[in-house]
Amino acid sequence: MTGLDPLRLTARDAKRLLVDGEISSAELAKVYLDQIAAVESKVRAYILVTTDNIAKYSTKVDREMQAMRGPLAGLPIAVKDNMVTEGVTTTAASRILANYQPVYTATAVRQVWEGHVVMLGKTNLDEFAMGSSTENSAFQVTANPWDLSTVPGGSSGGSAAAVAAGEALWALGSDTGGSIRQPASLCGIVGMKPTYGAVSRYGLIAFASSLDQIGPLTRSVYDCALLLQHIVGHDPRDATSVELPEPVALPSAERLDGLRVGVPAEYLAAGIEPGVRARFDETLARIEDLGGTCVEISLPHTEYALPAYYIIAPAEASANLARFDGVRYGYRCADPEDLTDLYERTRGDGFGAEVKRRIMIGTYALSAGYYDAYYGRAQKVRTLVRRDFEAAFAGVDLIASPTSPTVAFRAGSRTDDPLAMYMSDVCTIPANLAGLPAISIPCGLSDGLPVGFQLIGPAFSENRILDAAHALEGAIGFDTAPPFADSRPAEAGGLGATRPAEEGQS
Ligand code: GLN
Repeated sequence: MTGLDPLRLTARDAKRLLVDGEISSAELAKVYLDQIAAVESKVRAYILVTTDNIAKYSTKVDREMQAMRGPLAGLPIAVKDNMVTEGVTTTAASRILANYQPVYTATAVRQVWEGHVVMLGKTNLDEFAMGSSTENSAFQVTANPWDLSTVPGGSSGGSAAAVAAGEALWALGSDTGGSIRQPASLCGIVGMKPTYGAVSRYGLIAFASSLDQIGPLTRSVYDCALLLQHIVGHDPRDATSVELPEPVALPSAERLDGLRVGVPAEYLAAGIEPGVRARFDETLARIEDLGGTCVEISLPHTEYALPAYYIIAPAEASANLARFDGVRYGYRCADPEDLTDLYERTRGDGFGAEVKRRIMIGTYALSAGYYDAYYGRAQKVRTLVRRDFEAAFAGVDLIASPTSPTVAFRAGSRTDDPLAMYMSDVCTIPANLAGLPAISIPCGLSDGLPVGFQLIGPAFSENRILDAAHALEGAIGFDTAPPFADSRPAEAGGLGATRPAEEGQS
């Protein structure tokens, strides 16, 4: 079967074709393998394409289709390479894990595998998910399919670019300060960070444990709900995981009657590009057209969220990354003289500049004498940010903002300016600090590049967010197919181009 457009096909439609017998799982997987062959040398979304696994597993799904009637069976997925996968190299885009073979599989990935989803491969990211452009990967720079000279956002830039480029039907990412929503925004797709705890973090390589959440990157809000359904749930292996009070429902809403949407003045105060602001204002008008009301609200501690995040996240990272010592995981330097030399050279060679910067900031913030002044204070700010949201949700159902203050920026333009890079997440970080669910949906173009619209809800309001986003998506009618504007020559790929595929699902 041909004629399927991987730039527009949704999981919902692919499922229908599979169930109706119009296409086999192997044929569907081939649609993505062909697209990977056609565009991956330009996009470089994957660190590893599990080619052998794709062929073998999709054929198995076809053979056993009767027994595999799960709602996701046979649908191919890309997985961010900071989720461990048994028998499949998992790198977190770091030299220190370049050859790491996990002996177990992250719960969220296992849940989709058990739904007989076919894993296409592992996608590129900023090293250990630290960044907003995917340029901090130790292996390759991923390009944004909307303009190959711009970044896909980050840190889940590989997952977002793979979906936007039609190299995956959908993908899993992780979001610590915006790493699902911001790349979704820059790549013109849907991305959702669930309520903290809704999805197990077991097997997600830890960056900042009190902020990290796994979530979907998809071409539609419906697909987002469909994937989310399969990854939520309490996991005894993650002490912070919780059961959602109600199951994730597949959205069908077309109207927003009675919905009260708050627009925080502080989010619009500074740094929002005019083109982003214009699409945002148009989308607020659509909310009113659909029967909702938009009111200005205040989240007074917003300006302190970013600085608090950049204490808390590095502090937790410095503790989490202590385990990469050359003894237990991955890379070890050659011929160490003694234990100190082993640690120093392994970590010195193994970590990239941004990771080292975070370890140093975090170690400093946690050190004796500074703990109360920095970390303790940042945690107090976090409480104030959470209370701002609680107070706001007494008066509104959802909060709306642009996802990112700008559209995709040119590769290299912020790499020498960490603060400019950190500002990319100014609208997404508060939801992580407060543990709240939030979605980004595409709401139009500015200068030919996608603009994202963010909806934040109270804890466990996934269904409310998905319903509202679904209605809005229908009214916006965004076309997810990028033009592949090519303003930069293709270079040789990174590891994805050279590595042999490894065994994954069995
Ligand atoms: N860009 C933010 C950071 O660098 C968020 C990253 C993330 O969400 N993983 O920390």
